Amino acid sequence: MWAYDDARSAMRDVMRLSRAMTFKAAVADLQLGGGKGVIMVPVGRRLPSERRYRALLDFADTVEALGGHYITAEDVGTSSRDMRVIMEGTRHVVGLSRAQGGSGDPSPFTALGVVIAIRACCERVFGSTDLRDRSLCVVGLGHVGSRVAKLCARAGAKLAVADVDPAKRALADQLGARWVAPERALDAPFDVLVPCALGGILDDETVPRLQCAIVAGAANNQLADDVVADLLAARGVLWAPDFVVNAGGLINVAEELHGYDPAAVRRRVRGIADTLRRIFDDADSIGATPLTAAMELARRRLAGGHAGDGAPTPSG
Ligand code: NAD
Repeated sequence: MWAYDDARSAMRDVMRLSRAMTFKAAVADLQLGGGKGVIMVPVGRRLPSERRYRALLDFADTVEALGGHYITAEDVGTSSRDMRVIMEGTRHVVGLSRAQGGSGDPSPFTALGVVIAIRACCERVFGSTDLRDRSLCVVGLGHVGSRVAKLCARAGAKLAVADVDPAKRALADQLGARWVAPERALDAPFDVLVPCALGGILDDETVPRLQCAIVAGAANNQLADDVVADLLAARGVLWAPDFVVNAGGLINVAEELHGYDPAAVRRRVRGIADTLRRIFDDADSIGATPLTAAMELARRRLAGGHAGDGAPTPSG
Protein backbone atom coordinates (compact mmCIF):
# COMPACT_ATOMS: atom_id res chain seq x y z
CA MET A 1 0.00 0.00 0.00
CA TRP A 2 1.63 3.20 -1.15
CA ALA A 3 0.83 6.81 -2.12
CA TYR A 4 1.23 7.49 -5.87
CA ASP A 5 0.68 10.73 -7.79
CA ASP A 6 -1.43 8.96 -10.38
CA ALA A 7 -2.49 5.53 -11.61
CA ARG A 8 0.23 5.54 -14.27
CA SER A 9 3.03 5.73 -11.63
CA ALA A 10 1.33 3.02 -9.57
CA MET A 11 1.13 0.83 -12.68
CA ARG A 12 4.80 1.45 -13.53
CA ASP A 13 5.84 0.58 -9.98
CA VAL A 14 3.80 -2.60 -9.78
CA MET A 15 5.20 -3.83 -13.12
CA ARG A 16 8.76 -3.16 -11.96
CA LEU A 17 8.17 -4.83 -8.59
CA SER A 18 6.49 -7.86 -10.13
CA ARG A 19 9.35 -8.28 -12.59
CA ALA A 20 11.77 -8.34 -9.63
CA MET A 21 9.53 -10.89 -7.85
CA THR A 22 9.63 -13.12 -10.93
CA PHE A 23 13.44 -13.00 -11.03
CA LYS A 24 13.64 -13.49 -7.26
CA ALA A 25 11.46 -16.62 -7.22
CA ALA A 26 13.18 -18.12 -10.27
CA VAL A 27 16.74 -17.54 -9.05
CA ALA A 28 15.83 -18.93 -5.60
CA ASP A 29 14.51 -21.99 -7.48
CA LEU A 30 11.04 -21.68 -5.94
CA GLN A 31 8.16 -23.26 -7.79
CA LEU A 32 6.44 -19.89 -7.95
CA GLY A 33 5.96 -17.27 -10.62
CA GLY A 34 6.21 -13.66 -9.55
CA GLY A 35 3.60 -11.04 -8.93
CA LYS A 36 2.93 -7.96 -6.92
CA GLY A 37 -0.22 -6.12 -5.98
CA VAL A 38 -0.38 -2.41 -5.28
CA ILE A 39 -3.11 -0.61 -3.35
CA MET A 40 -2.87 3.06 -4.36
CA VAL A 41 -3.69 5.60 -1.64
CA PRO A 42 -3.87 9.41 -1.95
CA VAL A 43 -0.61 11.36 -1.51
CA GLY A 44 -0.21 13.16 1.83
CA ARG A 45 -3.44 11.89 3.38
CA ARG A 46 -4.04 9.02 5.77
CA LEU A 47 -6.91 6.81 4.68
CA PRO A 48 -9.69 6.84 7.27
CA SER A 49 -9.90 3.37 8.82
CA GLU A 50 -13.25 2.55 7.17
CA ARG A 51 -11.83 3.37 3.69
CA ARG A 52 -8.66 1.41 4.43
CA TYR A 53 -10.79 -1.57 5.46
CA ARG A 54 -12.82 -1.31 2.20
CA ALA A 55 -9.63 -0.98 0.11
CA LEU A 56 -8.21 -4.12 1.71
CA LEU A 57 -11.44 -6.05 1.12
CA ASP A 58 -11.51 -4.90 -2.54
CA PHE A 59 -7.94 -6.12 -2.89
CA ALA A 60 -8.92 -9.44 -1.25
CA ASP A 61 -11.74 -9.83 -3.82
CA THR A 62 -9.24 -9.39 -6.65
CA VAL A 63 -6.86 -11.93 -5.11
CA GLU A 64 -9.74 -14.40 -4.60
CA ALA A 65 -10.88 -13.92 -8.21
CA LEU A 66 -7.43 -15.09 -9.36
CA GLY A 67 -8.23 -18.47 -7.78
CA GLY A 68 -4.83 -19.09 -6.16
CA HIS A 69 -2.71 -18.02 -9.15
CA TYR A 70 -1.72 -15.00 -7.06
CA ILE A 71 -0.92 -15.31 -3.34
CA THR A 72 -0.57 -12.10 -1.37
CA ALA A 73 1.60 -11.25 1.65
CA GLU A 74 2.47 -8.32 3.89
CA ASP A 75 4.74 -5.70 2.34
CA VAL A 76 5.62 -1.99 2.54
CA GLY A 77 2.64 -0.05 3.95
CA THR A 78 0.74 -3.07 5.26
CA SER A 79 0.89 -5.00 8.50
CA SER A 80 -0.17 -8.40 9.79
CA ARG A 81 -3.42 -6.69 10.97
CA ASP A 82 -4.16 -5.79 7.35
CA MET A 83 -3.48 -9.39 6.32
CA ARG A 84 -6.14 -10.47 8.82
CA VAL A 85 -8.62 -8.20 7.01
CA ILE A 86 -7.57 -9.58 3.61
CA MET A 87 -8.12 -13.07 4.99
CA GLU A 88 -11.81 -12.20 5.40
CA GLY A 89 -12.04 -12.18 1.60
CA THR A 90 -9.52 -14.78 0.43
CA ARG A 91 -7.55 -17.82 1.59
CA HIS A 92 -4.67 -16.96 -0.71
CA VAL A 93 -2.55 -15.13 1.91
CA VAL A 94 0.85 -16.08 3.40
CA GLY A 95 3.08 -14.42 5.98
CA LEU A 96 0.41 -14.39 8.70
CA SER A 97 1.44 -14.29 12.34
CA ARG A 98 2.39 -17.53 14.05
CA ALA A 99 -0.77 -17.29 16.19
CA GLN A 100 -2.78 -17.44 12.96
CA GLY A 101 -0.86 -20.44 11.67
CA GLY A 102 1.56 -18.46 9.50
CA SER A 103 5.36 -18.16 9.64
CA GLY A 104 5.42 -14.68 11.20
CA ASP A 105 7.75 -11.82 10.32
CA PRO A 106 10.00 -12.82 7.34
CA SER A 107 12.65 -10.15 8.13
CA PRO A 108 14.95 -12.42 10.21
CA PHE A 109 15.31 -14.73 7.18
CA THR A 110 15.79 -11.81 4.81
CA ALA A 111 18.52 -10.50 7.13
CA LEU A 112 20.19 -13.92 7.36
CA GLY A 113 20.27 -14.08 3.55
CA VAL A 114 21.78 -10.60 3.33
CA VAL A 115 24.64 -11.52 5.68
CA ILE A 116 25.25 -14.76 3.77
CA ALA A 117 25.38 -12.72 0.56
CA ILE A 118 27.79 -10.18 2.08
CA ARG A 119 30.11 -13.03 3.07
CA ALA A 120 29.95 -14.54 -0.44
CA CYS A 121 30.84 -11.12 -1.91
CA CYS A 122 33.76 -10.67 0.53
CA GLU A 123 35.05 -14.10 -0.49
CA ARG A 124 34.94 -12.98 -4.13
CA VAL A 125 36.67 -9.67 -3.60
CA PHE A 126 38.93 -10.25 -0.56
CA GLY A 127 39.37 -14.04 -0.68
CA SER A 128 37.63 -14.74 2.64
CA THR A 129 34.08 -14.86 4.02
CA ASP A 130 35.38 -13.62 7.38
CA LEU A 131 33.79 -10.31 8.38
CA ARG A 132 36.24 -9.57 11.20
CA ASP A 133 37.62 -6.07 10.68
CA ARG A 134 35.76 -5.65 7.35
CA SER A 135 34.25 -2.17 7.26
CA LEU A 136 30.53 -2.17 6.51
CA CYS A 137 27.89 0.52 6.37
CA VAL A 138 24.25 -0.53 6.79
CA VAL A 139 21.88 2.12 5.41
CA GLY A 140 18.38 1.79 6.88
CA LEU A 141 17.93 0.25 10.32
CA GLY A 142 14.41 -1.10 9.94
CA HIS A 143 13.16 -4.67 10.26
CA VAL A 144 15.92 -6.07 8.05
CA GLY A 145 18.75 -3.54 8.44
CA SER A 146 18.74 -3.62 12.25
CA ARG A 147 19.09 -7.40 12.17
CA VAL A 148 21.82 -7.29 9.53
CA ALA A 149 23.70 -4.73 11.66
CA LYS A 150 23.44 -6.95 14.76
CA LEU A 151 24.66 -10.05 12.89
CA CYS A 152 27.58 -8.14 11.35
CA ALA A 153 28.54 -6.59 14.71
CA ARG A 154 28.50 -10.09 16.24
CA ALA A 155 30.75 -11.31 13.40
CA GLY A 156 33.34 -8.66 14.35
CA ALA A 157 32.82 -6.22 11.47
CA LYS A 158 33.84 -2.58 11.79
CA LEU A 159 30.33 -1.25 11.58
CA ALA A 160 28.83 2.10 10.55
CA VAL A 161 25.07 2.66 10.27
CA ALA A 162 22.82 5.33 8.77
CA ASP A 163 19.12 6.11 8.93
CA VAL A 164 16.91 9.13 8.29
CA ASP A 165 15.27 8.44 11.64
CA PRO A 166 17.50 9.88 14.42
CA ALA A 167 15.80 7.56 16.93
CA LYS A 168 17.77 4.70 15.32
CA ARG A 169 20.95 6.20 16.76
CA ALA A 170 20.27 4.28 19.97
CA LEU A 171 20.91 1.01 18.11
CA ALA A 172 24.21 2.40 16.78
CA ASP A 173 25.29 3.11 20.36
CA GLN A 174 24.14 -0.31 21.52
CA LEU A 175 26.20 -2.04 18.79
CA GLY A 176 29.22 0.23 19.16
CA ALA A 177 28.66 1.28 15.53
CA ARG A 178 29.62 4.63 14.01
CA TRP A 179 26.62 6.81 13.11
CA VAL A 180 26.82 8.25 9.59
CA ALA A 181 24.46 10.72 7.91
CA PRO A 182 22.59 8.86 5.11
CA GLU A 183 23.83 11.32 2.45
CA ARG A 184 27.45 10.60 3.51
CA ALA A 185 27.10 6.80 3.50
CA LEU A 186 27.41 6.50 -0.27
CA ASP A 187 30.72 8.32 -0.68
CA ALA A 188 32.59 7.05 2.38
CA PRO A 189 35.31 4.39 1.98
CA PHE A 190 33.71 1.18 3.32
CA ASP A 191 34.50 -2.34 2.14
CA VAL A 192 30.78 -3.08 1.87
CA LEU A 193 27.79 -0.78 1.45
CA VAL A 194 24.60 -2.50 2.62
CA PRO A 195 21.45 -0.70 1.36
CA CYS A 196 18.49 -1.71 3.55
CA ALA A 197 16.17 1.27 3.05
CA LEU A 198 14.38 2.23 -0.15
CA GLY A 199 15.17 1.44 -3.79
CA GLY A 200 16.61 3.58 -6.58
CA ILE A 201 19.70 4.71 -4.66
CA LEU A 202 22.19 3.69 -7.35
CA ASP A 203 22.12 5.92 -10.43
CA ASP A 204 24.45 7.85 -12.72
CA GLU A 205 24.88 10.52 -10.06
CA THR A 206 25.61 8.28 -7.02
CA VAL A 207 27.66 5.48 -8.63
CA PRO A 208 30.61 7.75 -9.63
CA ARG A 209 30.82 8.83 -5.94
CA LEU A 210 30.99 5.31 -4.48
CA GLN A 211 34.16 4.46 -2.55
CA CYS A 212 33.16 0.91 -1.55
CA ALA A 213 34.30 -2.39 -3.08
CA ILE A 214 30.97 -4.18 -2.69
CA VAL A 215 27.27 -3.27 -2.63
CA ALA A 216 25.03 -6.00 -1.19
CA GLY A 217 21.81 -5.25 0.68
CA ALA A 218 18.11 -5.95 1.15
CA ALA A 219 16.56 -2.90 -0.51
CA ASN A 220 14.40 -3.80 -3.52
CA ASN A 221 15.14 -2.22 -6.92
CA GLN A 222 18.42 -0.57 -5.86
CA LEU A 223 19.33 0.33 -9.45
CA ALA A 224 17.47 3.33 -10.88
CA ASP A 225 17.81 1.54 -14.21
CA ASP A 226 19.38 -1.75 -15.42
CA VAL A 227 22.22 0.13 -17.19
CA VAL A 228 23.49 1.23 -13.76
CA ALA A 229 24.81 -2.34 -13.40
CA ASP A 230 27.31 -1.50 -16.18
CA LEU A 231 28.36 1.70 -14.41
CA LEU A 232 29.03 -0.28 -11.22
CA ALA A 233 31.09 -2.86 -13.11
CA ALA A 234 33.05 -0.09 -14.87
CA ARG A 235 33.85 1.43 -11.46
CA GLY A 236 35.09 -1.98 -10.23
CA VAL A 237 32.32 -2.25 -7.62
CA LEU A 238 30.91 -5.76 -7.10
CA TRP A 239 27.12 -5.40 -6.96
CA ALA A 240 25.14 -8.40 -5.74
CA PRO A 241 21.73 -8.33 -7.46
CA ASP A 242 19.13 -7.30 -4.87
CA PHE A 243 16.58 -9.90 -5.94
CA VAL A 244 19.15 -12.63 -5.17
CA VAL A 245 20.36 -11.13 -1.88
CA ASN A 246 16.93 -10.41 -0.37
CA ALA A 247 15.16 -13.67 -1.29
CA GLY A 248 15.19 -14.99 2.32
CA GLY A 249 11.77 -13.53 3.14
CA LEU A 250 10.17 -15.01 0.03
CA ILE A 251 11.86 -18.38 0.65
CA ASN A 252 10.35 -18.27 4.15
CA VAL A 253 6.75 -17.53 3.11
CA ALA A 254 6.95 -19.97 0.18
CA GLU A 255 7.69 -22.72 2.71
CA GLU A 256 4.25 -22.05 4.29
CA LEU A 257 2.63 -23.44 1.16
CA HIS A 258 3.79 -27.00 1.85
CA GLY A 259 4.11 -27.35 5.63
CA TYR A 260 6.35 -24.91 7.46
CA ASP A 261 9.81 -26.12 8.55
CA PRO A 262 12.16 -23.35 9.81
CA ALA A 263 15.21 -25.63 9.47
CA ALA A 264 14.42 -26.20 5.78
CA VAL A 265 14.03 -22.43 5.33
CA ARG A 266 17.43 -21.81 6.91
CA ARG A 267 19.03 -24.41 4.62
CA ARG A 268 17.52 -22.80 1.53
CA VAL A 269 18.47 -19.30 2.65
CA ARG A 270 22.09 -20.47 3.10
CA GLY A 271 21.91 -21.56 -0.54
CA ILE A 272 21.99 -17.86 -1.50
CA ALA A 273 25.80 -18.06 -1.14
CA ASP A 274 26.10 -20.78 -3.81
CA THR A 275 23.65 -18.98 -6.08
CA LEU A 276 25.72 -15.81 -5.88
CA ARG A 277 29.00 -17.67 -6.48
CA ARG A 278 27.45 -19.20 -9.57
CA ILE A 279 26.15 -15.82 -10.80
CA PHE A 280 29.58 -14.22 -10.35
CA ASP A 281 31.24 -17.15 -12.18
CA ASP A 282 28.69 -16.95 -15.00
CA ALA A 283 29.18 -13.18 -15.23
CA ASP A 284 32.96 -13.64 -15.54
CA SER A 285 32.64 -16.42 -18.09
CA ILE A 286 30.33 -14.47 -20.42
CA GLY A 287 31.93 -11.08 -19.74
CA ALA A 288 28.68 -9.65 -18.39
CA THR A 289 27.51 -7.95 -15.21
CA PRO A 290 26.12 -9.94 -12.26
CA LEU A 291 22.71 -8.46 -13.14
CA THR A 292 22.79 -9.94 -16.65
CA ALA A 293 24.05 -13.29 -15.31
CA ALA A 294 21.30 -13.37 -12.64
CA MET A 295 18.59 -12.49 -15.16
CA GLU A 296 19.91 -15.19 -17.49
CA LEU A 297 19.76 -17.76 -14.69
CA ALA A 298 16.17 -16.67 -13.95
CA ARG A 299 15.22 -16.92 -17.63
CA ARG A 300 16.68 -20.43 -17.93
CA ARG A 301 14.77 -21.55 -14.84
CA LEU A 302 11.56 -19.96 -16.10
CA ALA A 303 12.06 -21.84 -19.36
CA GLY A 304 12.06 -25.09 -17.37
CA GLY A 305 15.71 -25.81 -16.52
CA HIS A 306 16.78 -26.45 -12.93
CA ALA A 307 19.75 -28.49 -11.64
CA GLY A 308 22.34 -27.93 -14.37
CA ASP A 309 20.56 -25.17 -16.27
CA GLY A 310 22.97 -25.44 -19.21
CA ALA A 311 25.61 -22.92 -20.17
CA PRO A 312 25.00 -19.24 -19.54
CA THR A 313 24.45 -17.10 -22.60
CA PRO A 314 24.78 -13.34 -22.69
CA SER A 315 21.62 -11.28 -23.09
CA GLY A 316 21.42 -7.95 -24.83
P1 NAD B 1 11.51 -0.91 7.19
O1 NAD B 1 10.45 0.05 6.76
O2 NAD B 1 11.32 -1.71 8.43
O3 NAD B 1 12.92 -0.13 7.36
C1 NAD B 1 13.39 0.85 6.48
C2 NAD B 1 14.35 1.74 7.28
O4 NAD B 1 14.99 2.62 6.36
C3 NAD B 1 13.65 2.62 8.32
O5 NAD B 1 14.39 2.58 9.54
C4 NAD B 1 13.71 4.03 7.68
O6 NAD B 1 13.78 5.07 8.66
C5 NAD B 1 15.00 3.93 6.90
N1 NAD B 1 15.10 4.86 5.76
C6 NAD B 1 14.12 5.27 4.91
N2 NAD B 1 14.63 6.11 3.98
C7 NAD B 1 15.97 6.21 4.23
C8 NAD B 1 17.04 6.90 3.63
N3 NAD B 1 16.85 7.67 2.55
N4 NAD B 1 18.28 6.79 4.17
C9 NAD B 1 18.49 6.01 5.27
N5 NAD B 1 17.50 5.33 5.90
C10 NAD B 1 16.26 5.43 5.38
O7 NAD B 1 11.75 -1.86 5.92
P2 NAD B 1 12.36 -3.33 5.91
O8 NAD B 1 11.27 -4.33 6.05
O9 NAD B 1 13.55 -3.39 6.82
O10 NAD B 1 12.84 -3.42 4.39
C11 NAD B 1 13.98 -2.70 3.94
C12 NAD B 1 14.16 -2.90 2.44
O11 NAD B 1 14.32 -4.29 2.17
C13 NAD B 1 12.97 -2.44 1.60
O12 NAD B 1 13.46 -1.97 0.34
C14 NAD B 1 12.19 -3.72 1.39
O13 NAD B 1 11.39 -3.68 0.20
C15 NAD B 1 13.33 -4.73 1.24
N6 NAD B 1 12.93 -6.09 1.57
C16 NAD B 1 12.47 -6.39 2.81
C17 NAD B 1 12.12 -7.70 3.12
C18 NAD B 1 11.62 -8.08 4.49
O14 NAD B 1 11.62 -9.29 4.82
N7 NAD B 1 11.20 -7.13 5.32
C19 NAD B 1 12.27 -8.71 2.14
C20 NAD B 1 12.78 -8.36 0.88
C21 NAD B 1 13.11 -7.04 0.60
